[in-house]
Amino acid sequence: MTGANPPGAGILDRSRIRLGRARRTVGAAGPQLAGAGRMLSPGAASAALTFDDGPDPVWTALVLDLLGELGVPATFFLVGQRARAHPDIVRRMLDEGHGIGSHSASHPDPAAMPVRELVDDYRRGRWMVESVAGVEVRLFRPPTGRIDLAHAPAIRASGLRPWLWSLDTEDWREGTTTEQILASVSPGDGDVVLLHDGLQPAGSPEAHSRAATVAAVPVLVERYRRAGLSLVLLPDASSAPARPRAGVLQ
Ligand SMILES: [Zn+2]
Repeated sequence: MTGANPPGAGILDRSRIRLGRARRTVGAAGPQLAGAGRMLSPGAASAALTFDDGPDPVWTALVLDLLGELGVPATFFLVGQRARAHPDIVRRMLDEGHGIGSHSASHPDPAAMPVRELVDDYRRGRWMVESVAGVEVRLFRPPTGRIDLAHAPAIRASGLRPWLWSLDTEDWREGTTTEQILASVSPGDGDVVLLHDGLQPAGSPEAHSRAATVAAVPVLVERYRRAGLSLVLLPDASSAPARPRAGVLQ
């Protein structure tokens, strides 16, 4: 990383556990987040694609187009302010069978905001997404994956379940190529893959194109399929209310 670090990037760099090129990582949270999800239950031959920082009118729409063509669901962790700005994209996610969770109201840097303000931002983020989507939001992914001891209890008390990831494609790094994203993914049972469909504010070092991520999506889906792994929603992801189907027991 050169030049000014984007908010939280340094935290991520220091906190990730790297296991070789595969970059199987966990989020920044420590033992205090024993209840945070990181991987799907093993043995189910499944994996989950997750997208953070949207919705974005350009990149999220392209991701949804691709996922629709491929016929696979994904879970999107939405920034509340962006969900309010693009409610049509949020509704499209639900209509097309995807899941959603909250990724804060304003995407603050958790290390740079007082705890009380941070918890308030997280609570508002949930409410903003719920007000747009019309469904209860249960999943939460903190910006940069960081939850400190000081505010973890408040997040739990709010009823949100933190979900991190098991595999970081590092597509959030400026200049990451499709090849680098693909090189970071070797499909495994229970993987939760971290990707990004949204952009940080214009002018920030992270305000770059998501074209590399978009181009990687079809290849990733194919790899998981070839590995015999089904791509599924994260448990407790909010989705559109089920429409009754003949022959399906409730
Ligand atoms: Zn984020």
